[in-house]
Amino acid sequence: MKNRRILIIYTGGTIGMVQDPETGSLSPFDFQNLIEAVPGLSSIGADIEAYCFEHLIDSSDMGPDGWIHIAQVIEKRYADFDGFVVLHGTDTMAYTASALSFMLENLDKPVILTGSQLPIGVLRSDGKDNLINALEMAAATDENGQALLREVAVVFGSRLFRGNRITKFSAESFSAFVSANFPPLAQSGVHIKWYCPAPAGHPADGKRLVAHTDLEVNVLIVKVHPGMSAGTLGLILNTPGLKGVVLATYGSGNAPTSPAFAQTLADAVKRGIAILNVTQCTEGAVEMGKYAASNPLKAAGVVSGYDMTTEAAVTKMMYVLGLRRPFEETRRLLSTPLRGEMTV
Ligand code: ASP
Repeated sequence: MKNRRILIIYTGGTIGMVQDPETGSLSPFDFQNLIEAVPGLSSIGADIEAYCFEHLIDSSDMGPDGWIHIAQVIEKRYADFDGFVVLHGTDTMAYTASALSFMLENLDKPVILTGSQLPIGVLRSDGKDNLINALEMAAATDENGQALLREVAVVFGSRLFRGNRITKFSAESFSAFVSANFPPLAQSGVHIKWYCPAPAGHPADGKRLVAHTDLEVNVLIVKVHPGMSAGTLGLILNTPGLKGVVLATYGSGNAPTSPAFAQTLADAVKRGIAILNVTQCTEGAVEMGKYAASNPLKAAGVVSGYDMTTEAAVTKMMYVLGLRRPFEETRRLLSTPLRGEMTV
């Protein structure tokens, strides 16, 4: 059988970093250095090519422009490769994976993000395993030669996760990510075990890949906290140009019940600002109406984000608002699963 063709897109992150001998700080280094740390790569049985960002970045500097760059590389090289591995810093990997899942419509091939907690050149690095897992999983096929994965995913600490379901929860552990509301897609041990959860959205059915690059960046995440006044909330919601807010609420979607708080939200919705309710809890979902403390949000026109992560919610907001649909349609899309990002 012919080797699978995999394109590595190297954006930066700890995986390829080296320590500056003077300052002791880690900064990105070139691809050759990274690849030399994994001498056996050729035995994976895949033809690997690389595309490197001109300026390698710490993922703290990743954002909509970088996501568009990655999406455009994938779109341009889509026919030439069977799968894509994106090397990326862990700090914002959950945002990038979520953003790409929405931006790449009709995706029918694996796009796997990975990185590491320790640079690949360090003896105890997790980078080598993560990179090898990502490449093997991106090259994996069923008995008909079809790719086993056809969505955006993240491999880290031996598990493969749906990309728009994860959150970075540890700056220390080699298992840096959790996917509390959705099971892993695969697990690497002696063998790679694949699980078959529900597909991540509508099947591509041979439709052409579309990379959506119009993202609305005038969105904010607002985390409700005890003592947050309606006045402060109003100042935030009156930010000039604001188009959407992800409201991170308590528990199953609750917020302070003062009429002024709800009125401030209702006024913003009337001005055409989309407000999406997600929970501050890592696990579980928004259930507006379960407690009286969420009723005012519902009445104000706040939309439920169910069990979406904050990372998925904010990137979905950018994508959906970027579609420039009428307000009611925007609100409907926000609370509809588009790429397996939430369970309704
Ligand atoms: N600061 C790094 C980054 O996100 C952390 C990492 O890669 O683990 O680029």
